[in-house]
Amino acid sequence: MSLLSDIKAIGLGFWTTLRHVGRRSVTIQYPEEKRTPFPRYRARIVLTRDPDGEERCVACYLCSAACPVDCISMQSAERPNGRRYAAWFRINFSRCIFCGLCAEACPTMAIQMTPDFEICKRDIMNLVYEKEDLLIDGCGKDPDYNFYRHSGIGVVNPRGGNQNENPPVDVRTLLP
Ligand code: SF4
Ligand code: SF4
Repeated sequence: MSLLSDIKAIGLGFWTTLRHVGRRSVTIQYPEEKRTPFPRYRARIVLTRDPDGEERCVACYLCSAACPVDCISMQSAERPNGRRYAAWFRINFSRCIFCGLCAEACPTMAIQMTPDFEICKRDIMNLVYEKEDLLIDGCGKDPDYNFYRHSGIGVVNPRGGNQNENPPVDVRTLLP
């Protein structure tokens, strides 16, 4: 009985091999052959521009706050017209786990994941990417989105300083 079950097991093993003999190999000889990842594959992060060619990032720190491993840092700055931008922006890819939470959190679609997974370096310090390394010339996955067309640019004048605007009320004067 046990001899029969052994023969059956061997036969099944050979049958499994035979079934796959004629099939196309799924092994890819990387790096000579390259597989094209899916468009939503989460790898190298980029900073994109809006359709007018301006930087989308408004340095709101949301991506940095959402990042579970704390690998995004930046410094915000403001132009004379009230438009915010990142004076510097840094991602440490040696800590990044490519979870995509930063891209999910970004209100301006500035930070986006790309399928470029070939970012390995011999020197770990080369995995610290600065804004110049991250900022691309294109719009990425949302070519028509322009945050400032929806939000408008921040108020430059102090409160009450704009045309037809009343000065702010000191709420303490309303106390009985
Ligand atoms: S993909 Fe995840 S770990 Fe990497 S920078 Fe974005 S939030 Fe942080
Ligand atoms: S990349 Fe997006 S979430 Fe991060 S600071 Fe810039 S605008 Fe904010």
